[in-house]
Order: sequence, then C-alpha cells, then structure tokens
Amino acid sequence: MSLSNAPEGQRRLFLALWPEESERQQMAKLAAQVAGRRQVRDANLHLTLVFLGATTPDQLAAYQTALADVAIPNLELALDRYGYWPQPRILWLGSNRTPPELYELVAELHRRLRGCGFVPERRAFQAHITLARRFNGSVPTELLEMPVRWQVNEIALVESLSSPEGSRYEVVRRWPEG
Ligand code: ATP
Ligand code: MG
Repeated sequence: MSLSNAPEGQRRLFLALWPEESERQQMAKLAAQVAGRRQVRDANLHLTLVFLGATTPDQLAAYQTALADVAIPNLELALDRYGYWPQPRILWLGSNRTPPELYELVAELHRRLRGCGFVPERRAFQAHITLARRFNGSVPTELLEMPVRWQVNEIALVESLSSPEGSRYEVVRRWPEG
C-alpha cells in the first residue's frame, strides 16, 4: 500500500530523468561499491530536474498543458564523478561536464512552469543522482575510469509516495509522448 506524500487532494510531484534498467543497474553497482548498505533504494535512483512539490489537480493540468510540446534534447550524460554535500550528508553521482543542453532544458521547464504560477527554487540546478544519504564513508575524488553513459531523450513526471519501506516513486507520464 502506498499513500500520497502530500496533503489531502494533492500529489507530491517532480520532473526527472528516469534511468532505464541497464543504467539503473550501473548506478546501483557504483552506489553499492562506494556506500555499501544505504538509505536510497535502487528503484529510487533518478535525477531531479524540477521539484514541483505538493500539486493540486488544477495545477497538474496546467503544468501538463504547458509542457505538452516541450522539446527534449538528445544528450549523453557521462556520469564520471562523485560528489558530497556535508549538510544533508548526501553522496551523489554526477558529471564533470554536464552538457549545457541539460541546463537549458531546466531553464525552459522553469519558463513554462512560471507561466502557470509555479515558483522555481532559487538554488541553481545541480545535476546529480543521490546515491546515499547520511553517508559517512570516504568519497572517491578521482574520475571514474568507466563512466556510466546515460542517453537521455525524455523526461518523466514522477510522484513521490510513502510506503512502509519509505518513499517510493512512480512515473506518472513522460515527454515526449511515446
Ligand atoms: P523522503 O523525503 O521521504 O526522505 P525523498 O527525499 O526521496 O524521500 P521527496 O522528498 O518526495 O522524496 O523528493 C523527491 C525528489 O525531489 C528527490 O530527488 C528530492 O531530492 C527532491 N526534492 C525534495 N524536496 C525538494 C526541495 N525542497 N527542493 C528541491 N528538490 C527537492
Ligand atoms: Mg525529501
């Protein structure tokens, strides 16, 4: 059983890059190597583009209309580095050269969502995949010899649900429509 992570009548949502099984397995393998047992489940690995938060049905309808014809670039993300944020103690996987097209995509998503009254967060977008939380280990500083090569050509609208095992994510839909 899963429950919404949002107030009654709303859904907790975010836009993300959602890995295919093969990339997910590669990310999970790296996470296991560096962090061992950890808080983030393999099935939850993703890259958040825009956190929408608690969303009403009307807002969701407006967002979907605004995003209907958004162009998604074809790009390759070479996941070749780890990073660490001490405050939340997050170990993440990212790229030493995130393609500019990804930043442009996030800016375009913000532009479209602003048109529906959405207020994007002020923090600059940092492309990252959270591998572990409450991480205490040592963070590899050298670049990965064998980066995970992630071919991106779509974005996903994802719902955050709470289950007895913790947060669980469910892809609601994707763009472009397949
Ligand atoms: P939990 O909060 O239950 O520990 P979670 O953080 O995985 O689990 P959510 O809080 O629903 O689940 O977050 C979904 C995604 O949105 C994650 O990638 C998370 O990092 C990101 N996110 C959550 N809150 C914010 C926020 N305030 N600003 C930006 N991104 C956020
Ligand atoms: Mg959270």
